[in-house]
Amino acid sequence: MTELLSNYLGGKWQAGSGTGTALFDPVLGDELVRVDATGLDLAAGFAFAREQGGAALRALTYRQRSALLAEVVKVLQANRDAYYEIATANSGTMKNDSAVDIDGGIFTLGTYAKLGDTLGDRHYLLDGEAARLGKDPLFQSQHVLVPTRGVALFINAFNFPSWGLWEKAAPALLAGVPVIVKPATATAWLTQRMVHDVVEAGVLPAGALSVVCGSSAGLLDQLQPFDVVSFTGSADTAAVIRSHPAIAQRSVRVNIEADSINSAVLLPGDSPDTAAFDLLVKEAVREMTVKSGQKCTAIRRVFVPEALFGQAAEAIGARLSKVTVGNPRNEAVRMGALVSRAQFNAVQEGLANLRKHAQVLHDGTQQPLVDADPAVACCIGPTLLGVNDADAAGAVHDTEVFGPVATLLPYRDTVHALALVRRCQGSLVTSLYGSNAAALGAAAVELADSHGRVHVISPDVAQLHTGHGNVMPQSLHGGPGRAGGGEELGGLRALNFYHRRSAIQASTAVLDTLA
Ligand code: NAP
Repeated sequence: MTELLSNYLGGKWQAGSGTGTALFDPVLGDELVRVDATGLDLAAGFAFAREQGGAALRALTYRQRSALLAEVVKVLQANRDAYYEIATANSGTMKNDSAVDIDGGIFTLGTYAKLGDTLGDRHYLLDGEAARLGKDPLFQSQHVLVPTRGVALFINAFNFPSWGLWEKAAPALLAGVPVIVKPATATAWLTQRMVHDVVEAGVLPAGALSVVCGSSAGLLDQLQPFDVVSFTGSADTAAVIRSHPAIAQRSVRVNIEADSINSAVLLPGDSPDTAAFDLLVKEAVREMTVKSGQKCTAIRRVFVPEALFGQAAEAIGARLSKVTVGNPRNEAVRMGALVSRAQFNAVQEGLANLRKHAQVLHDGTQQPLVDADPAVACCIGPTLLGVNDADAAGAVHDTEVFGPVATLLPYRDTVHALALVRRCQGSLVTSLYGSNAAALGAAAVELADSHGRVHVISPDVAQLHTGHGNVMPQSLHGGPGRAGGGEELGGLRALNFYHRRSAIQASTAVLDTLA
C-alpha cells in the first residue's frame, strides 16, 4: 500500500480512519499516495481554526501579517524542487506548466506580502471618507472594514493545487482570516505537501492554515454565519454548494469560480501578414497546449473575420502539428498529460460532442505519443475544430472541453463578433488582437460587463503582455454569469471578501479616533 497522507486540522496531523483514495501518475499509471478524511472531528477542527487561528491572526496588524506571507514565500521557495517532482508525477505536467501553478502561487503570495505592507500597522481599514448625515457636520457616518470572525473554507479544483491555494490564502491570511483548504482529490498531494512544509516551519500561528484531503462530506455542514467559502470547480458542483443550507439559510458568504467558454478575437483590419494576426495564432496555440488546456482561463473559441478563416486555420494547425505529446520527463516532449483517466474520458466525450457540430481542422487525437504507452498514459494531442456558421453552432458557445481543444469561428463584422463572444453567457477572460487602438478600446469596454478580464494584445505590447490565460494578482479573476459570478484577486480588492463592512455613525470627535 502507498503512503496515506495526513490531514492537518485542529492544530494536529490526523490520518483518516479509512483505507483512502489512491492518487495516480497520469502518464505511467502508478499509484502514488492515498488520501482520506474519514472520521475526522470536523466540528472541533473548524472551531479551533475559528477561535485560535482567527484570534491570533486578528491580534496582528496588516503589516505583521504581510511579514508572515513573506515567511511562507521563503518556506515554499526552499522546497520548490520537491513540488516540481510531485507536479510531474501527479499532474503529468511539463516543467513550464508546473511553473504556472507552483511559481505562480509563490509569486501571488509575494505580491500580497508587498501590497499588505502598504496597509501599515492597522487592525481594520477605513472604507471611504466620513459622510455628513444632516446639516450639522458634527454627526457623521464612516464605513469600516473589519476581518470576519470566521474561517475561510476553500474547495479547490484539480488543475491548480498550488496556485489555487495561495491565490486565495494570501488575501485571506492578510485580512486576518484562518484558512481550511480541501484540495481536489486527484491532485491533493501538492497542496498537502505545501501545507505540511509551512506548518512544520512554524511560521504561521496555530490554526491559521489547515488541510483536509479526501472527501468533502460534512465540510459545508460546519459553516457558521461569519465563515466564508470560496469554491473553484465545475458548474454542477457549484450548484450543489449554492443550495447548501449554510449558504441558503445561514448567509455564509460564497465565492464561485466555475467553468468558462473564453474567447480570442482578431478584430477586423489586420491581414495574415500582420503582427496582430501572428499574435492571435501564437496565443491560441499557447492556450490550447499549456497545462494540456486544463486552465479555466484557456481560449476555447477563436474568432476571426470570415475572409481570414482558412489562413487562420492553416497557421494555427501548422503550429499545433509541431507540438509533441507524451511523457513530460522526456526532453523531446512539449505537452504532457491530462490529469487523470476521468479527465481523459471527459475530454474524449466532450470532443465527440463538439465534433457533431464542427469540422476537424487539426486532429491531435491520433497523434503518436512520445515515451508513453497510449493504453496507460492520459495524453491526447491538441485538436482545432472549426465551424462555418458561428450563429448556428450553439454547442460550441456552451461546451467547455477541459483539455487541448479549441474551435475557430468566422464573423462578419465587429458587431457580429462581439455578439458571438457574448453567447458564452459570461466568462473569465477574452483577448482582443489588432492594431487599431480606438477599435480595441471600444471592443474591450463593450465586453467588460460579461467578462472579469479583457486582455488586449496589440503589436506594441507583443513582448510585454502577460498572456491571455495567466492570472495576475493585480487584476481581477472571476467572471459573471456562467463563470460563477465570483471575484478574486484584483490587488487589495481581494481583501473585501474576507472583511465585513460596517457603518459607524458618531460624532466627528469619535470618528477622528478611528483614523
Ligand atoms: P469539481 O468536480 O466540481 O470539483 C471541484 C472541487 O469540489 C473538488 O475539490 C471536489 O472534491 C469538490 N466537490 C465535489 N463534490 C462536492 C460536493 N458535493 N460538495 C463540496 N465539494 C465537492 O471540478 P474539477 O473537475 O475539480 O475542476 C474542473 C472544473 O473547474 C472545470 O470546469 C474548470 O473550468 C473549473 N475551474 C475554474 C476555475 C476558475 O477560477 N474559474 C479554475 C480552475 C478550474 P473531489 O475532488 O474530492 O471530488
